[in-house]
Amino acid sequence: MRAFDYVRATDTREAVRLLAEDPAASCLAGGTTQLDLMKDGVLEPPRLIDITRLPLHGIERRGAALHVGALATMEELAADATVAARLPMVRESLLRGASVQLRNMATIGGNLLQRTRCRYFRDPTVPECNKRTPGSGCAAAQGAARMHAVLGASERCIALHASDLAVALVALDAVVHIQGPAEARTVPLTEFYLTADESPQRENVLEHAELITAVEIPLPSAAARSGYLKVRDRASYEFALASAAVLLVLEDGMIRQARVGLGGVGTKPWRAYESEHVLTGASATTATFREAADAALRDAWTVPGTAFKVPLARRTLVRELQTVSEVTA
Ligand code: FAD
Ligand code: SF4
Repeated sequence: MRAFDYVRATDTREAVRLLAEDPAASCLAGGTTQLDLMKDGVLEPPRLIDITRLPLHGIERRGAALHVGALATMEELAADATVAARLPMVRESLLRGASVQLRNMATIGGNLLQRTRCRYFRDPTVPECNKRTPGSGCAAAQGAARMHAVLGASERCIALHASDLAVALVALDAVVHIQGPAEARTVPLTEFYLTADESPQRENVLEHAELITAVEIPLPSAAARSGYLKVRDRASYEFALASAAVLLVLEDGMIRQARVGLGGVGTKPWRAYESEHVLTGASATTATFREAADAALRDAWTVPGTAFKVPLARRTLVRELQTVSEVTA
């Protein structure tokens, strides 16, 4: 690992100021992504600003939303009473991610900003990677692409966004609170991420020296049912091949409200608006669920290594729609 300066910030404005002083500086939260990439020589920030002592750890109910400090850990959020009672989709997405040791270190802000697991991105000896070196090409498109994306993908980049939590949060219309050097702003999570097709090297709208300070999760109505299904190569400690976050409000066999997020398939956490359009107002049947799943994957862009993900993601979504609705016919 290349030597770097380490500075511990004690309040949010100081952290932002320290970051703004150096255009190459990075911040350090739980370190479970940042330090790996530094050890591998993928990232070489000359200065690391430790933000773990900032007062951004709280999780509290604020009216009809849950306000989650960016430094709350994945385990803390999974254990929160409101999450257990009202946000099962969030709890399941957290508990199916990483391992308990990692979840005790990993923060919510860091989870949303984790970098792709693309093995070519993480290996600086591979020259072709548009994400690391814009214009150099994409080694994965011709290589081992089993863990890559089919939505928001193109020959420029097929890197998967691997966060499980973000899939649940885009389905729930969560909002990100951001503090920058000049001002604070809020961005809906559905508008926070960019697809790899749009910009391989830039994954979200965060500017340098901006910090995520919190995430606000609107609480669904009491009538809503929801869940998160993650399909992966092994039962734990593995990233998703496909996942589905589903929220439904049913009335007399009809779907009054539908929210769908897809994971394991998108270059960003994927909100499947096309599926929601098919589901809303339709009767809750397996035929409707299949039509909704077809709609979600209609624009998939595949390479030989990722083609299997299209039917897998369709089946994953149909299964979770059946589970949440308790309709199998
Ligand atoms: P860090 O590593 O400290 O930071 C990550 C990035 O975010 C850095 O660029 C950092 O500068 C930036 N950053 C952090 N906080 C902020 C902030 N508040 N504002 C602005 N920038 C910030 N995730 C899943 O969802 N599902 C899985 O199944 C899963 N499995 C994993 C398995 C392994 C072996 C590992 C190592 C990770 C896995 N992860 C998984 C990813 C894990 O959840 C992330 O590494 C973790 O959430 C990152 O959080 P952190 O606090 O450690 O972030
Ligand atoms: Fe790089 Fe994206 Fe291609 Fe991976 S998929 S090698 S991150 S350009």
